[in-house]
Amino acid sequence: MHELAIADSVVNIACAHAGGRRVTAVELKVGHLRQVVPSALEFAFGRVAEGTELEGARLVLHTVPAAGRCRGCGADTPLPEFPLRCARCGGFDVEVLQGEELLVDSLEIEEPLVTNGGLRSGD
Ligand SMILES: [Zn+2]
Repeated sequence: MHELAIADSVVNIACAHAGGRRVTAVELKVGHLRQVVPSALEFAFGRVAEGTELEGARLVLHTVPAAGRCRGCGADTPLPEFPLRCARCGGFDVEVLQGEELLVDSLEIEEPLVTNGGLRSGD
């Protein structure tokens, strides 16, 4: 199940950036060609995040459409599905220019120093 491996690396990256602070949301850019199943990734993320700074964080997925350039006819072509082929000439010799992304785009981190109205208990 490759969503589990992806969730694992997302949590690792996010934890490294959070530096012990609590993360409330993670935005992820996922290329279409990664063939990630969003619901499976969300599920895996929830499991992997348990017990870390990311527990309970929202996972926001942004899918990057796949596109490339045909080496045969030189056309820029969308690559909506496998097998990858040029929409103009039908050739399979296509260079992928985007759609293989898998990166943490941004993190929403809870800032413990900000008091936002009436939340001061104890002290
Ligand atoms: Zn072509």
